[in-house]
Amino acid sequence: MSFGLCNSTTNRSISCKEIEENFADLHHPLSQLQAKAEASRCLYCYDAPCINACPTGIDIPTFIHQIRTDNIIGSAKTILSENIMGGTCARACPTEILCEQSCVLNASLQEPVKIGALQRFAVDPVIDSINGTKEKDKHPFTRQNETGKKLAIIGAGPAGLSCAHRAAMLGHEVTIFEAKSKPGGLNEYGLAAYKMVDDFAQREVEFLLGIGGIRVEYSKHLNKDVFLTQLQLKYDAVFIGIGLGSVNKLGIDSESNTSIIDAIEFIQRIRQASDKSSVKVGNNVLVIGAGNTAIDAAIQAKRLGATHVTLVYRRDEQAMTATEWEVDLARRNDVKLVFFAAPDKYDPAGAKMIFKKTTIDAGKLKLTDESFELPADMILTAIGQKLNIDSIVEDKREPNLKIVKGKIVISERYETSLKGVYAGGDCVQGDDLTVQAVQDGKQAAHSIHDYLMAQG
Ligand code: SF4
Repeated sequence: MSFGLCNSTTNRSISCKEIEENFADLHHPLSQLQAKAEASRCLYCYDAPCINACPTGIDIPTFIHQIRTDNIIGSAKTILSENIMGGTCARACPTEILCEQSCVLNASLQEPVKIGALQRFAVDPVIDSINGTKEKDKHPFTRQNETGKKLAIIGAGPAGLSCAHRAAMLGHEVTIFEAKSKPGGLNEYGLAAYKMVDDFAQREVEFLLGIGGIRVEYSKHLNKDVFLTQLQLKYDAVFIGIGLGSVNKLGIDSESNTSIIDAIEFIQRIRQASDKSSVKVGNNVLVIGAGNTAIDAAIQAKRLGATHVTLVYRRDEQAMTATEWEVDLARRNDVKLVFFAAPDKYDPAGAKMIFKKTTIDAGKLKLTDESFELPADMILTAIGQKLNIDSIVEDKREPNLKIVKGKIVISERYETSLKGVYAGGDCVQGDDLTVQAVQDGKQAAHSIHDYLMAQG
């Protein structure tokens, strides 16, 4: 499958060929020979620590053994039965701090088994073979007998889709209400393009929906087109998987200047542009933040042709939430890192940002009197997201849902303060990984199933 990524690079210091290369798949998929060789390195540990390190609890030694014995469909089923978005997670999970970090081979100073790459090797052919065939009997999952129960899901991101798939599998009829025009949430809009090439997020959703019993209504905004109280009346249960709809602000003068852009918005523009060269990028780009979104934005700015990209963080490198691997990738892409600095003022006329140096005093971050400036014609902010409370609470004087510290409060069984209303993913966890949202959606579907079946 070939996707043209560049039409013209007039006015850019970069060629179309470079853009094509820069936005090609970050990782080369394993060949069959490589996969079998890698699978044979696994010790198939009893009580395998890698399973516990995976938030979705995939039986890793079993799926690796299935690859080694040429049972690729069985291997994919082992993965997808715990993590229906195993394809995205194979591409975007920070395996270096999850399953691969816990691999026992690390203890003998060997490279850990490449679990993420093997997962992709198993899942990709199954997704490719199911999509477009319209032969539902080929789908690796089948639905149980229909229960006649109806579930409404708000949000077609990883948590909502995972919940939908599991609930449909358990025999319920699912309707998803999604505010955007496409499904996938951050998988579609918030991950670097070179991690999700060839429209993978959409192909994965198409595969997931192939189980049947799930309808998606697009461009349906909560508290505008659909209301929680109405859904409670019309459906037997509701699952909220709305993610975090707002971004944190820098809190500086001139923040509304058009040169200051939310990094997720920038990533979204790149992801949605079939011609990557149509996305505007500055010459001197500053990225404010320290997580994986900041890194994804910084590297992509550089790969679009920005001359200088500098990532600025108010603390030190150890405090960054981006993984060591991601930070290293940024450095290898010529992204400069500046620590102990906080934005103070933006000067649009001079195209520069003024920073105050920071310091740690008795464990607390403090601003100093020292300042410096950096040239900046584009500033990407990646300082975290927060729950958009207005998007969900219908009447602030009489809140319909318990929300504490910007998170929807849930029980161990994912039930909110409202009976029959469940929630999962970033709107309950805060900014977290796709794999955690998938696990939340799956677990919530089982709780919802118990609730619906107890109703008779
Ligand atoms: Fe295989 Fe490593 Fe998991 Fe052991 S810890 S089962 S060697 S992947």
